[in-house]
Amino acid sequence: MGLPRAGAEAWGMDIAIIGGGAAAVGLLDALAGAAQAQGSITVFEPSPDRWRGRPYGPDLDSVLVNVPPAIMSIRHGDPGHYSAWLGTRGEAYLDQRFGQPLVPRALYGEYLEHTAEKAVAELRERGQRVEVAAASVVGLARSAGRLTLHTEDGSRHVADQVALCVGSGRPHDHYGLEGTPGFVGDPYPLARTLDGMTPGSDVAVIGSGLTAVDVVVSLAARGHTGRISMVSRTGMLPHVWQRPRAHRPRHVTTERVKAHGEITLDWLARLLRAELADAGEDLDALLADLRAARTEDPVQRLRRQVEAVDAPEIGRRVLQETSHTVGPYAWRLLADHDKNRLRAHFRTATSLASPMVPVNAARLLRLFDSGQLDPVGGVNSIERRNGRFHVDAEGTTRTADLVINAVNPPPHAIPQAAVALVNSLVAKGLATPHPSGGVVPAAPRLHIVGDLAGDGPFITSGIPGVAAQGAAAARAILAPVT
Ligand SMILES: Cc1cc2nc3c(=O)[nH]c(=O)nc-3n(C[C@H](O)[C@H](O)[C@H](O)COP(=O)(O)OP(=O)(O)OC[C@H]3O[C@@H](n4cnc5c(N)ncnc54)[C@H](O)[C@@H]3O)c2cc1C
Repeated sequence: MGLPRAGAEAWGMDIAIIGGGAAAVGLLDALAGAAQAQGSITVFEPSPDRWRGRPYGPDLDSVLVNVPPAIMSIRHGDPGHYSAWLGTRGEAYLDQRFGQPLVPRALYGEYLEHTAEKAVAELRERGQRVEVAAASVVGLARSAGRLTLHTEDGSRHVADQVALCVGSGRPHDHYGLEGTPGFVGDPYPLARTLDGMTPGSDVAVIGSGLTAVDVVVSLAARGHTGRISMVSRTGMLPHVWQRPRAHRPRHVTTERVKAHGEITLDWLARLLRAELADAGEDLDALLADLRAARTEDPVQRLRRQVEAVDAPEIGRRVLQETSHTVGPYAWRLLADHDKNRLRAHFRTATSLASPMVPVNAARLLRLFDSGQLDPVGGVNSIERRNGRFHVDAEGTTRTADLVINAVNPPPHAIPQAAVALVNSLVAKGLATPHPSGGVVPAAPRLHIVGDLAGDGPFITSGIPGVAAQGAAAARAILAPVT
């Protein structure tokens, strides 16, 4: 499809959305929900898997969504939106232990696609022109009060408002293995990267987070018989989701945080303490357990957590849920020293806020118990010598035939596909680099939705965070420019 003519219409506002993943869907859905009809919307997305972004493209059925439906709605303010879409289809994917449907991520991708297409149809019905351009944007510049986008194929497009929804990209190559035979730099889609892999080969999976879990359970689902090592610096596994309970937070709420204005970490801890005290629980005990995550044997901890899926305590459940719902609001209100206090616990916070689903936890535990899977922490180097990979870790070494990189980039990482674009924003003074990574807009007509936002949370955003940012960007875009 050709790009729409640059600045052809003067009658309405022209909006450009760069990137067509979950963040763009949240934004489009919010724009469609707004009353005003505007000029045009053009979404730039080079991938054929439109609206699905990096995580939700077609893949193996073993690649599951990582969270319960109640926090997978892409429509901000409507937590039931995804469950309603899923309807009775969810019954086929019920995780008995969790009591929740956990569908393949490709099916969630269908939900995103459906939501985006519905939003596009609604906008068009109201007279708005909506186009999707299969192009990558490589530059942005100011031109006579508007913004000009430059695409990889040399085209130009002029817009009044621009939203960057570019995600945070593919895994970084921490051990300089790109191009080495037997090294898989990006695991997704696993349907492609695991295809043709010799079942008896020894595999080292770099990372111990959710992507590493995806790789391990997918290898097992394909009948892999060789040894699998999960190699990482910390060796810390994600926590395990507990079965949701009817409890609704009364103290740790967005309303409380918004009403309070300037907040501190200690104030947030007091809210949490009150929340737990109401349920007869002790925050200090929860914090002590979280601190132990750095030193406790990961398999033992996993076993304890699998046993605690049905445990009645609300503490960890409240922290996990509110880190995605209240967390993004609270983060922006914290002072730098409190943000730094939290950043110092990045790995534990990530393993808590992005837990694995019980069905995967049970699979992992079985693999550990059978001896096929082993956790290797304290990795120093990974090299290929004499036809095999050598993993050098504190106190141990492993060899492997294949290495799969499953380390997700940290929040605020600049995706490889957007490096040229971000460099141009900074060079033209449209955005400024943030000290903790990512960028912040320096022009009122530029908006950032997703983890590229340097002032956003220090842990990877889940769907609720991305949806909230999309809705906020829609409000800012439609607000009169002063
Ligand atoms: C593997 C994985 C699994 C996850 N699972 C869950 C989950 O189960 N539940 C949950 O709540 N959260 C999950 N998350 C977190 C969250 O859902 C995702 O991070 C979210 O999908 C981010 O959406 P996004 O649109 O910001 O980024 P992305 O999904 O990465 O989409 C960005 C899009 O921008 C495009 N793009 C990049 N650069 C350019 C450019 N220069 N020009 C044009 N287009 C460009 C890319 O092609 C891509 O399609 C997961 C994250 C990952 C990585």
